[in-house]
Amino acid sequence: MSSSHFGHRTVSVAIEATALEETNRFGETTHQAGVRATCSECGHETTAFGTAGDSRRRCLALLRDECPMGESNWYEED
Ligand SMILES: [Zn+2]
Repeated sequence: MSSSHFGHRTVSVAIEATALEETNRFGETTHQAGVRATCSECGHETTAFGTAGDSRRRCLALLRDECPMGESNWYEED
């Protein structure tokens, strides 16, 4: 039953590499490699540190949680 996508829309998400600010344990702001995902429906953005597949999936999972339009949408990398 979970294989049905009935009632769900697939939203394409652009994911791009970016530099993210991070505050280290000394209170200094540093820049780390990361990825930024942008919802094509509403423009909501999520970010994750790292550039591997795990980071991209993290961004998509965050969009599912945070996107104001994404109650039951499925997010897919564009
Ligand atoms: Zn959205």
